[in-house]
Amino acid sequence: QDQAEVRVRFAPSPTGYLHIGGARTAIYDWLLARRTGGKFLLRIEDTDRNRFVPDSLDDILASLRWLGLEWDEGPETGGGYGPYFQSERLDLYHQYAQQLVAEGKAYYCYCTSERLQELRKSQENAKVQAGYDRLCRTLSAAECEQRNQAGLRRVIRFKTPLSGRTVVKDLIRGELVFENETLEDLVLIKSDGFPTYHFANVVDDHLMKISHVLRGDEWIASTPVHVLLYEAFGWQPPQFAHLSIFLSPDGKGKLSKRHGATSVKEYREQGYLPEALFNFLLLLGWNPGTEQEIFAKEEAAQVFGLDRVNASPVKFSTDKLNWYNGVY
Ligand code: GLU
Repeated sequence: QDQAEVRVRFAPSPTGYLHIGGARTAIYDWLLARRTGGKFLLRIEDTDRNRFVPDSLDDILASLRWLGLEWDEGPETGGGYGPYFQSERLDLYHQYAQQLVAEGKAYYCYCTSERLQELRKSQENAKVQAGYDRLCRTLSAAECEQRNQAGLRRVIRFKTPLSGRTVVKDLIRGELVFENETLEDLVLIKSDGFPTYHFANVVDDHLMKISHVLRGDEWIASTPVHVLLYEAFGWQPPQFAHLSIFLSPDGKGKLSKRHGATSVKEYREQGYLPEALFNFLLLLGWNPGTEQEIFAKEEAAQVFGLDRVNASPVKFSTDKLNWYNGVY
């Protein structure tokens, strides 16, 4: 994989209006691409049909455009580029999952949701967090065939190594080391035939030649399994940068709806200026190394870099946002 060009993607799931945390990730993606002459892609991760919120897709696109974050690549729509949609790429995920099964790196699991629920309950009672017990990992081909014949529902799971360690190199947090025995045999393809977020995300980041993955730090715990998936395919993983969460204005906990608007849509509708929200979110987690506080987009694109992104959570302040709104 040619890592010379910076290629970043914003990969929202259409499960709600664009969150300001997501907007900041998109801003950093966009700036990194602009700064380096790279490419910024938009990929809609719509493989979880249960959580799909129809009008969220329009909102995500409208909010990104409002912030001035145009993407550089995607399927032609006859007047620009559309985003990539994972739901249109299902065959690809199947093909790659089959490859892992054929190579003995993934397996069919026929465990029912009742069994998994009971397993969870008994683990809870015993106060252990062991996850799936890998019952189906040792099924023979004949045993699988029997179950297929009986029409049992099945998923494809990854054979996570049972020992050793996986190192995640994070550009913001440094090296994070995970014991493989703490990682689960993750589901790659669900029983409805759709891939899980994890699997589609890894396959697409590889196929789209993504060089840097910027995302919220709630994904850190999943990243070692992603790295193991890249290794199973013999692919080079992208560089990871996990961004810290926003804290409430008093700094006592995570920012939530209780503290005010958390979607770009709400700020749009309240009449805030896109330049103000952009500038505010830019500095919520990145510092320029100078006293400068006012950055036009193009100006920020000349100086932004991941080396000055904070590893620690940052306090959200509506006063500060209002101050920016007065400046512009
Ligand atoms: N679809 C994931 C989300 O909405 C993307 C996470 C990632 O960038 O890998 O948070």
